[in-house]
Amino acid sequence: MYRTKTLFLNPIIALIGILVFITLLVNPSLWTSTAGANNRFQDITPSDPISTNHTDYSPLTSIQLASTKDIFPKKIIYLTFDDGPSKLTEQVLHILKQRNIQSTFFVLGNQATRYPEDLKDMVKAGHTIGNHTFNHEYKQLYSNFTEFWSQIKQTEEIIRHITGTRTSLVRAPGGTYNHFDASYFLWMKEAGYQVFDWDVDSGDSMRRGVPASEIIHNSTPSKPKDQLILLMHDGSGHDQTVKALPHIIDYYKNLGYEFRTLTPKVQPVQFPVHPGKIASSSSLPDGAWVASHVIPNARLFTGESPLHVVVGGKAFEVEAGNYELSQDQYKVPLRTMAERLGAQVQWDSNTKITKVCWGTRTLIINNNQQNIVRQLESGEVTESIPLSVEVRGERIWVPLRPLLEQLGHPIISVNTEQTREQITAI
Ligand SMILES: [Zn+2]
Repeated sequence: MYRTKTLFLNPIIALIGILVFITLLVNPSLWTSTAGANNRFQDITPSDPISTNHTDYSPLTSIQLASTKDIFPKKIIYLTFDDGPSKLTEQVLHILKQRNIQSTFFVLGNQATRYPEDLKDMVKAGHTIGNHTFNHEYKQLYSNFTEFWSQIKQTEEIIRHITGTRTSLVRAPGGTYNHFDASYFLWMKEAGYQVFDWDVDSGDSMRRGVPASEIIHNSTPSKPKDQLILLMHDGSGHDQTVKALPHIIDYYKNLGYEFRTLTPKVQPVQFPVHPGKIASSSSLPDGAWVASHVIPNARLFTGESPLHVVVGGKAFEVEAGNYELSQDQYKVPLRTMAERLGAQVQWDSNTKITKVCWGTRTLIINNNQQNIVRQLESGEVTESIPLSVEVRGERIWVPLRPLLEQLGHPIISVNTEQTREQITAI
């Protein structure tokens, strides 16, 4: 009897079960009434507007993507070469070209001035250029931040002159460990730079003449990380690195690594601050220095629209950070403007007078008297015109309109569309 009853009830229970299951499936909001407090869907009710910004909603695809990514992480290697360019760089570029891969070169300013063609070749081949300071002298660079800063800016300008592009990627000579204190890290970041140390050291600069076999051994750990930055050198004396390079590339190619260049978006690898370094910042620059140098610098890299200037048949761009619009007036650093125009600038720190020569015109800007005059060929000067001259850090900022006017190129139109600001002068 019991058995018969059970046999009779079983299909009914199964049917009820299936119905409940289907109901819950087509109407997931019913789950909320039975779900616990931690259920991630509990905030979603029919009255909630479902927007793409709602962070608690539609997480399923992102969860799936994240877990797929965790299971199959992409293998990426960033080859980096420091201390060049040198006479070896051409060979490095040739090897990379043969294998159709791109790398990042952290160049020294003084070397870049000696081998400008190598920098142009790097850009042409799709490589990325980073800043490795001007002279690599630890003693100068790490004595105080202002010295490090001035070498970064100097090298940045050298790179920009040669390639037309400003780089925000930086590698500290010798790496940051035992060199950077917390303030170096902070201010470089505030100024818009990305400082990269490395994951794997090829060891090619441990001492003189490290043999290729040792460089290969150091560069090819048996279980490398999925994403890694490899440190190598293309400065003079690193012939063995050139010899080792094809083997290192083949090793990672065979392991399925993708070769990429560093970009501002790559999460920088940074060594922790050396404990002895924290208290050593005795010669910190003051707040005013930081405010005038570090903070405005970041605008150079934000991708804000540049100012397009057309003057005297010449057209050029002035990056955000090198111009500002305040009180309906464009202001520019005098030296930047003169450089783009191809004008000569002489600054006399005693008299605080700046002389600008462009074509047949010579202007004299007096910082103390806040005025500008034009020097005629006879040596006489025209009547002075008031000019608001500002000194910020080492740079003199002046309003653009009177400057161009005195140079004989008055502004005829200013176009300030959202995507393109353009000034056109005669
Ligand atoms: Zn170096």
